[in-house]
Amino acid sequence: MTDVRTGEQRQGQRKRVFIRTYGCQMNVYDSDRMADVLRPLGYALANTPEQADLVVLNTCHIREHASEKVYSELGRLRDTKLERRARGRDLTIAVAGCVAQAEGQEIVRRQPAVDIVVGPQAYHRLPELLAEVERKSAFRRAGKCLPGAGVLDTDFPAESKFDHLPAPEGVRAGSAFLSIQEGCDKFCTFCVVPYTRGAEYSRGPAAVLAEARHLAAAGAIEITLLGQNVNAYHGEAPTTSIGGSTWSLARLIRALAEIEGVARIRYTTSHPRDMDDELIAVHGEVPQLMPYLHLPVQSGSDRILEAMNRRHGRDLFLRLVDRLRAVRPDLALSSDFIVGFPGESDADFDDTMRLIDEVGFASAFSFKYSRRPGTPGWAMPDQVPESVKAARLAALQALLGSQARDFNASKVGATVPVLFAERGRKPGQIVGKTPWLQSVYAEGKPRLIGGIVAVRLTEGHANSLAGEIAVRPCEAAA
Ligand code: SAM
Ligand code: SF4
Repeated sequence: MTDVRTGEQRQGQRKRVFIRTYGCQMNVYDSDRMADVLRPLGYALANTPEQADLVVLNTCHIREHASEKVYSELGRLRDTKLERRARGRDLTIAVAGCVAQAEGQEIVRRQPAVDIVVGPQAYHRLPELLAEVERKSAFRRAGKCLPGAGVLDTDFPAESKFDHLPAPEGVRAGSAFLSIQEGCDKFCTFCVVPYTRGAEYSRGPAAVLAEARHLAAAGAIEITLLGQNVNAYHGEAPTTSIGGSTWSLARLIRALAEIEGVARIRYTTSHPRDMDDELIAVHGEVPQLMPYLHLPVQSGSDRILEAMNRRHGRDLFLRLVDRLRAVRPDLALSSDFIVGFPGESDADFDDTMRLIDEVGFASAFSFKYSRRPGTPGWAMPDQVPESVKAARLAALQALLGSQARDFNASKVGATVPVLFAERGRKPGQIVGKTPWLQSVYAEGKPRLIGGIVAVRLTEGHANSLAGEIAVRPCEAAA
């Protein structure tokens, strides 16, 4: 690779990058990896945009308000950039992620202060893009003009970014994300992911296991496997390396569980159609696989599920829940719901409420349907009025909220293993996660952060539990 450091960097002056992450855990992972790519160029992390020479907005396009937030932030950054330039300094602004992929050059048209637009499959090329920005700035400083504002890379390159990213650096508080699958071929009629993240792609198991070993050696005791459709994982192993054949997610989980130090394994996000027999069985067989599963159902109405092109009905989902609970009776379930999809009637919505009643969820994410340009749902007749969506969302969230409270209350009195992740808001408080991904607050020394500690749960709330560090061992494994 060519040396793309600026003159200033070569003279040893540190530069700072601020990365703002919108959206899902895959974006959190990508932001960390962008920091890894930028570090060899001399970029240290800044805590605020004001401290930074480079600001990266790693964006989400899933719902309309998510992309609009990006444009508001870009307006603020433009002001900062103009103030800086008046003082003879500069600020480089990059837009990454799914808004970058979906809107491309339109971003620079709407906000000319943007220097770089880079899609989620191309961010390993950030060094080259920064060098191009530097070249353009040098021309500008010399009073010359280069054609075209902004530097754009929204390709789906033939080479995988994973083959070009440096090894991840550092593990935060014992927990790490590991991206194993990207993109999606399912084309649900509401969703932009197949267009912004591209076709489904699985990393090979050798690369995934190498990254997992690296993370474990760096202190990760919990690894969360990530993918837009993670349980569709099908990693190809070359015959010469680790036995050949296509690896399923189940096989990968079994292999991860063999890595010394990996005490907790999670995976997200799954599609009900890809919950096969082998994966269900692994939930009963691998103790490191946490008793928590996020399995989006979106709707409880067969009619709406069909219009969404979800390729499964409510019965398949309910049968999956029964089979999972048969192998792992303490499994906590979480899901995603969309209310107000085009054509959703009161009866369809009631079907969703009945499904929630029947399953009982420990937690859930729920959204009003957001009409996304380019998706089939955009053009569907019978769009549901906002007021109806809002009323349905309120009713649905009230039910899900009461189920979450009940679930948390059901754990009060138990002593469970908690992986502490950070300091709490109150002095002396630390916060962690149970095996069921509940947040727990307890009084404890900061040195406990990054480790698993037995905690006696004393109070259950809507979104968290309070606990006390226990002296006796846990009643639940891991
Ligand atoms: N692959 C997962 C699945 O099959 O369900 C979901 C991934 S998607 C990135 C995360 C969630 O965003 C979806 O489960 C859905 O509930 C929500 N979502 C996606 N598109 C949406 C839209 N147009 N309006 C509202 N919510 C949406
Ligand atoms: Fe989007 Fe998930 Fe459907 Fe793929 S399976 S199109 S990511 S909702």
